[in-house]
Amino acid sequence: MRLKVLGLMAALLPLAACNLTSGGGASVADAGVTDALIAQVPEGEWLSYGRDYGEQRFSPLTQITDANVGQLGLAWFHDLDTARGQEATPLMHDGTLYISTAWSMVKAFDAKTGALKWSYDPEVPRETLVRACCDAVNRGVALYGDKVFVGTLDGRLVALDQKTGKVAWSKVVVPNQQDYTITGAPRVVKGKVLIGSGGSEYKARGYIAAYDANSGKELWKFHTVPGNPADGFENKAMEAAAKTWAGEWWTLGGGGTVWDAITYDPTTNLVLFGTGNAEPWNPAASGREGDSLYTSSIVAVNADTGEYVWHFQETPEDRWDFDSAQQITLADLNIGGQQRHVVLHAPKNGHVYVLDAKTGQFISATPFVMVNWATGIDPVTGKATVNPAARYEKGAPFVSLPGAVGAHSWQPQSFSPKTGLLYLPVNNAGFPYAAAKDWKATDIGFQTGLDGYVTSMPADAAARAAAMKATTGTLVAWDPVAKKAAWKVELPSPSNGGILSTAGNLVFQGTAGGDFVAYSADKGKQLWSFPAQSGIIAAPMTYAIDGEQYVAVMVGWGGVWDVATGVLAHKAKKQRNISRLVVFKLGGKSALPAPPPMAQMVLDPPPFTGTPEQAKAGGELYGRYCNVCHGDAAVAGGVNPDLRHTAALNAPEAIRSVVIEGALQHNGMVSFKSALKPEDADNIRHYLIKRANEDKALEAR
Ligand code: CA
Repeated sequence: MRLKVLGLMAALLPLAACNLTSGGGASVADAGVTDALIAQVPEGEWLSYGRDYGEQRFSPLTQITDANVGQLGLAWFHDLDTARGQEATPLMHDGTLYISTAWSMVKAFDAKTGALKWSYDPEVPRETLVRACCDAVNRGVALYGDKVFVGTLDGRLVALDQKTGKVAWSKVVVPNQQDYTITGAPRVVKGKVLIGSGGSEYKARGYIAAYDANSGKELWKFHTVPGNPADGFENKAMEAAAKTWAGEWWTLGGGGTVWDAITYDPTTNLVLFGTGNAEPWNPAASGREGDSLYTSSIVAVNADTGEYVWHFQETPEDRWDFDSAQQITLADLNIGGQQRHVVLHAPKNGHVYVLDAKTGQFISATPFVMVNWATGIDPVTGKATVNPAARYEKGAPFVSLPGAVGAHSWQPQSFSPKTGLLYLPVNNAGFPYAAAKDWKATDIGFQTGLDGYVTSMPADAAARAAAMKATTGTLVAWDPVAKKAAWKVELPSPSNGGILSTAGNLVFQGTAGGDFVAYSADKGKQLWSFPAQSGIIAAPMTYAIDGEQYVAVMVGWGGVWDVATGVLAHKAKKQRNISRLVVFKLGGKSALPAPPPMAQMVLDPPPFTGTPEQAKAGGELYGRYCNVCHGDAAVAGGVNPDLRHTAALNAPEAIRSVVIEGALQHNGMVSFKSALKPEDADNIRHYLIKRANEDKALEAR
């Protein structure tokens, strides 16, 4: 392997020269992971979140093919010491496989044998959970030089030694640890570690920043939304953006967080990144009007300076949580007889966008799911025309297709230059939006301005069944030139895993139901599957050592579909989290232990003794503060406690001690005293008892 790496390095010397000499005459072998290596990854390695800078997640390895994938077997596995959603893509360099897990831990393995080399735990305080929209997840590490970089849920950027896992430096990089979290994978470009943050459901002002890989020193920072004009604007881009806002948007941050996609294009020296939703979701809650730049956009900045170069807004006047933070892939396509270097992007809003990668010029946008929030796309500018009914703050509630979870979210896509297809993990799921009346911001929990009671799943069995029937997943192989699907695989549930495509004519994807599946890349024919015992949401990757090709994926159900929409996750198999890394090769003979038996939970609530007014008041508060962790309509997924089952339903003092006094803070259940009074806790209890009795009656039918 090493020889192969060196051979490639020699071929790349003109590109790599400055990196190889900038470290004071370091030899090629000492340089570790360089820009040149990431730009042109050795075929057996996987060096950055999306494999290389272009983020195609396509591997040229051909040992495992559509003809022999049936012989794929488990080579080794490692059970993890966290039981929450696993979203990371492993990286492989020089025989070592690096992963991050829930709670931002990092582990390094011998990639051939699975022997654990080292493990790092940043000891993220568990009460950080209340600041995180979507579980204690982490999507991966970055490799550069001799270091491994990870962003932690509580907002630190940490550099570790690749050989030992020892901390080289660690720095809090978020503006505050109340409203900002990090779940995304850093990328490293020319010695600069790039990372943004999450937080657009709180009071965050989005940004991306670059830090020196050797010291952690901040080198540049680009905000995605303007701050208070009275403080002066940081640059012309902020001044221009401020004209697209109204009200006092800065008091609630404005959103636009850079929580996932960061793509470096070596051919243009641009860093492209996707921005999150505008905050708060309901524009009337902050007097917001207009397009709210640069939220729900792709923005390009100069990699050396962080200076604005271009932007393309995919969702104008966002009020639907339509993040554009989804993975950005670079590709070279022949469009209309012309060779174009393009961006391929499929954000939450349900369209595949093709843009010129150098200028951001619009090429095409095509819906890949049913879309009703927009009535069309301007063929010249690419700007969507908003359906007036979708402006829910001006009228009645609106059920949008797609909804807040997105037609496509962080689950990575893959582009195969061999088939010319973009493989998309798609969610089919609407979402009801209703503006809260007399809404006021508080200091804890989601700050969306929505009425969580109106938008929660009704207890009515028929309505629930209809909503579940319409909530599914699809694996779509999209032809970005023909602007249509080449093939599709319908899946019973949303939130399936990210995608890997290979030169062996294969596409790999895990499912919410817990199967790891291989399809033919050209036709979508299912060729192989493996029962992994827990839902898979992460993306697979592949690597080779000593002439053998391996395929690896993180297993572990969780993330937003589990914690916030548990009621829908129950569609697939009954969900639970078994967190592990599984690695396959042809003829692999390892086997997983039998899964522990599934606990049977029987609803046995006390009788409802509250008033309808108490239950409604409790339901409104539950919708605002509780459902993001404990599940829509009080039906939890497999990760957090299902409150319909809590023994404390009978004990108002116990509920108060948890909700108001923070008795379970060590578990991550912090005090909500800043927003809730003791009688509020009591009303939430009445709501939970009502919901438990409703569902008990449904189960008895
Ligand atoms: Ca969001």
